[in-house]
Amino acid sequence: MVSQTADLLKNELPLELEAVVLPEDGVTGLVLVDIINGFCTVGAGNLAPREPNRQISGMINESATLARVFCEKNWPVLAFLDSHHPNKPEEPYPPHCISGTDESNLVPALQWLEKETNVTIRRKDCFDGFLGSIQDDGSNVFVDWVKHNQIKTMVVVGICTDICVLDFVSSTLSARNLGFLSPLEKVVVYSRGCATFDVPLHVARNTKGALVHPQELMHHVGLYMAKERGAIIASEVSFGAQNQQP
Ligand SMILES: [Zn+2]
Repeated sequence: MVSQTADLLKNELPLELEAVVLPEDGVTGLVLVDIINGFCTVGAGNLAPREPNRQISGMINESATLARVFCEKNWPVLAFLDSHHPNKPEEPYPPHCISGTDESNLVPALQWLEKETNVTIRRKDCFDGFLGSIQDDGSNVFVDWVKHNQIKTMVVVGICTDICVLDFVSSTLSARNLGFLSPLEKVVVYSRGCATFDVPLHVARNTKGALVHPQELMHHVGLYMAKERGAIIASEVSFGAQNQQP
């Protein structure tokens, strides 16, 4: 039933995926959005999966593989970690990823990133990593990361496709279009490197305050909306010669 609905939606909203080859001669940055225990590790908190989830574990594997290649090449990596003050709720969600708890830390498969010199870690207290990068002095950690590294192409992976990934990609593309992010040109969202959570209708109906959130549908819609803002949606990401796209 759910997969039939997902198939119907995919027919009505067809999404063209691209096989993206990242040029070896230009700077490409990798952004990891919230690949932390509170969203990915079974039983880790209010917004963590209750049981193993194929889309989420696939996202972790793909992201870890990409992160490994970026670190081997010494290319810039930025990791956002959702980290909330205990007294500042983020509605409509229950308390999650409170600062100082293991919920707000990278999943075990990515913890090694903390020791890598090419990796910037940014804890954020909101959905949108772009806004969450603003510091007290008005500077922006993400904007500075793009400019300092002279990033031309950016690959985005993480969770949730339709919430924190989409918000960050949307803000980034508006900022790029306004000329605030030079030399950034391309924003690539890697489909299998993204995931979202699953609250099917029958579960939401029996859970007070829960929003319906069928995983396959919302993942697809999130990717589609990112494409609507101008992101390139990739079915695969590889590394190649200089004259290939993008
Ligand atoms: Zn949050």
